[in-house]
Amino acid sequence: MQTPHGIRHISQAAWRLLFPPMCPFCEATGHLDGALCPACRETLSPTQSNTCGRCGAPAPRHLALEAGCPRCRKQTFAFAGVYALGDYAGALQKAVIKMKRPCGELLALSLGEALAGIIPDATVFDAIAPVPMHLTRRLARGVNSPEILAEAIGRSVGARVCIDLLRHRRKIAQQSALAPRERKRNVREAFRVSSSWKIAAASILLVDDILTTGATADACTKVLLAAGAAQVRVAVVARGGVNN
Ligand SMILES: [Zn+2]
Ligand SMILES: [Zn+2]
Repeated sequence: MQTPHGIRHISQAAWRLLFPPMCPFCEATGHLDGALCPACRETLSPTQSNTCGRCGAPAPRHLALEAGCPRCRKQTFAFAGVYALGDYAGALQKAVIKMKRPCGELLALSLGEALAGIIPDATVFDAIAPVPMHLTRRLARGVNSPEILAEAIGRSVGARVCIDLLRHRRKIAQQSALAPRERKRNVREAFRVSSSWKIAAASILLVDDILTTGATADACTKVLLAAGAAQVRVAVVARGGVNN
């Protein structure tokens, strides 16, 4: 006769046989925890890269970035800096697209963990907040990736995640469907800070999928600063170009 432990053991073994843990990006099996496999982790989150601290854009290694990079030097942002795993291109672009699709949760969690790994001192943040996704878009997409990314970063660094810190004031058009100069107008006064949180003097990490023109992150940052936040930095999986 089997002990309850034995039954549990057999059922876990059977479960693993039917659904072997796999890398959520390349779907290779053989990993114990279902996280990104070592090859995908290196591809999607290179350990050796030079990125602009101001806007998160990858930059040639020799370039001095104190005053920003060629992509952001002429822009003004309310946020203090951006962390990004890399450019919205190649494998990282495919990963972002896959992460946003139904069943992309595990990949979003893995990318959030990788993102936490490139933030030098994430413990300085008093709160981690995702860029909010409007209910209609959330229902259409099925996956709220900014929220999952924020949860994964919070879990990795032990920081408080405030899922509902930012709210929509109104529905906005999808930024990626608009020309860069229209994006700022689209998100102007589109967000508000939830009255259930007090963020006076808080240092906040704002989390989103992609940063392209920076208009959405900038609009969110402005309301957080107006509500008393001391500083806002942004973490995104990928830094988009002007065409995406
Ligand atoms: Zn993989
Ligand atoms: Zn830059």
